[in-house]
Amino acid sequence: MAAVRRIALVGEECVACGCCERVCPRQAVAVLHGVRAKVDGARCVGCGMCAAVCPAAVIRMEERGESHA
Ligand code: SF4
Ligand code: SF4
Repeated sequence: MAAVRRIALVGEECVACGCCERVCPRQAVAVLHGVRAKVDGARCVGCGMCAAVCPAAVIRMEERGESHA
């Protein structure tokens, strides 16, 4: 079974800067209510751009099993 990379938010230190939302090519992460980023793992293609720009280092890429979708 092939593993795929998906975004995961870790910790509570998101500063709601919106950097992740601006770089994501799939609209898989967005800041809700100006408070905290929220992810949609089904849309994420695992490019890692959000993790690269996050100033609070609360985004990690996780290896997951291939979905059956
Ligand atoms: S890894 Fe890429 S596709 Fe997934 S949420 Fe981050 S920027 Fe978007
Ligand atoms: S880039 Fe990081 S700190 Fe900024 S909104 Fe996204 S998760 Fe939060």
